[in-house]
Amino acid sequence: MSESWDAVVVGAGPNGLVAALTLARAGWRVVLYEANEHPGGGARTEELTLAGFAHDVCSAIHPLGLASPALRNLGLESVGVTWIQPDAPLAHTLRPEQAVMLERSVSATAAGLGVDGKAWTRLFAPGVDAGFSLTDSVLAPLTIPPAHPIALARFARHAVRSAESLSRSQFRGELGPALLAGLSAHSVLPLSAAATAGVGMLLGTLGHSVGWPLAQGGSQTITDALAKLFIQAGGQIRCGERVSSLRQLPPARAVLCDITPMQLVALAGEQMPVRYRRSLQKFRYGPGVFKLDWALDGPVPWKDPQVARAATVHIGGTLDEVRESELAATQGRISERPFLLAAQPSLFDPTRAPKGKHTFWAYCHVPHGSDVDMTHRIEAQIERFAPGFRDLILAKHAMGPAAMQAHNANYIGGDITGGVSDLRQFVARPVASVHPWATPMKGVYLCSSSTPPGGGVHGMCGSAAAELVLRHAASAQLAG
Ligand SMILES: Cc1cc2nc3c(=O)[nH]c(=O)nc-3n(C[C@H](O)[C@H](O)[C@H](O)COP(=O)(O)OP(=O)(O)OC[C@H]3O[C@@H](n4cnc5c(N)ncnc54)[C@H](O)[C@@H]3O)c2cc1C
Repeated sequence: MSESWDAVVVGAGPNGLVAALTLARAGWRVVLYEANEHPGGGARTEELTLAGFAHDVCSAIHPLGLASPALRNLGLESVGVTWIQPDAPLAHTLRPEQAVMLERSVSATAAGLGVDGKAWTRLFAPGVDAGFSLTDSVLAPLTIPPAHPIALARFARHAVRSAESLSRSQFRGELGPALLAGLSAHSVLPLSAAATAGVGMLLGTLGHSVGWPLAQGGSQTITDALAKLFIQAGGQIRCGERVSSLRQLPPARAVLCDITPMQLVALAGEQMPVRYRRSLQKFRYGPGVFKLDWALDGPVPWKDPQVARAATVHIGGTLDEVRESELAATQGRISERPFLLAAQPSLFDPTRAPKGKHTFWAYCHVPHGSDVDMTHRIEAQIERFAPGFRDLILAKHAMGPAAMQAHNANYIGGDITGGVSDLRQFVARPVASVHPWATPMKGVYLCSSSTPPGGGVHGMCGSAAAELVLRHAASAQLAG
């Protein structure tokens, strides 16, 4: 590592790739080091089970990718990304014979929610009408003043509440609360926690406004497109190069790290000021995940055939059931009936499996670092809503928290969101600052999902960090 560069990026996840691309397009000479043999981090597709079955190792569904201001104008479609929109964004299995559907339109969703339909419209229609004005403001949380203050203020009124309290105050039936609970569970927080409603409302709003698409061929195609654009802009990617110290990096004006605070502390060593190190050491990591991928002999035999209209399935029953499962993961307990986040991509993308065969992907939240094998509990939960599922299994692949962290060093204890995303760590991510991407070490920046706006394949953390680097360079705060 002896050459000299304008910028070095550590880690080729979606955020590292977007940061690198942003700087390369600004004319900077950029090199990107990735520990794994392939770039992509949480956006990779592999034959995890059998030849011909393409499984998304981590992310699978991309409402955030399609809506993201950092990704949507890059022209990913011109370099190989084809978005597939399932008939419905999401199915939530309430009872074996009854699913609740998040449809593309607010009115169609409301029509399926019975007594909760009006409340759903009241909650979601204003945000959907606001369109990107709202989602851009939510995904760029530290823009001061916010770009669209009115849309944001309207959204925030409900969004800062817990999913539980919003449900209780707005809905009268069982369907609205169940649907909102599943959406809010993406926060990986107890549903009684402040702002969990915001996560549910953002994801629901995106379902209505941009859909919950998958990428044809798998999430890998998003990575490949970003890598291609970066290389076209003059960048270099070096895979199989794990960075173990900032000192080993070649000289550069800026170093951008697509890693989490705990790793930055290790990489910086004595170089990091004590006060900042202490702050980063207080950064909290959350529950882990246990994920299964299956190669199947046929489609999942859902009791309610409506479930086959969506690529994403929330498997979990009522709000109370979802709440109990999510609470267990945060309290260090194992849920016997875990709430599952599942994806059935091959129903909509025939490139994922041989003709007539299917791939299926599901994970649940488990306590941080848990070594409990959840396979039986997860499959039993699927059987509840799709009897005969087990008979279709040709092969399976399991990843608990330890395997997740071995696959990607950023998944500390199996935490896939780059650290707890509660209100405190949403505001102070990883420290309280108007520019949390910057560190007190001159020229060293964080650009991972441990910075705002947090987890997901949207590239916003990388884009914000790179824009800050460019601003610092323009104001001569970085060496020329
Ligand atoms: C099971 C699962 C399901 C998910 N589902 C979705 C989904 O459907 N939709 C969605 O939007 N998001 C989803 N996510 C979340 C999403 O994948 C992440 O939030 C996103 O990938 C974070 O991007 P990042 O660039 O910050 O970090 P990462 O994607 O984690 O990338 C970090 C990269 O840095 C590399 N690295 C780490 N340390 C070093 C080092 N010392 N030297 C060199 N390289 C290093 C890693 O190998 C990795 O490639 C899911 C994640 C998981 C695990």
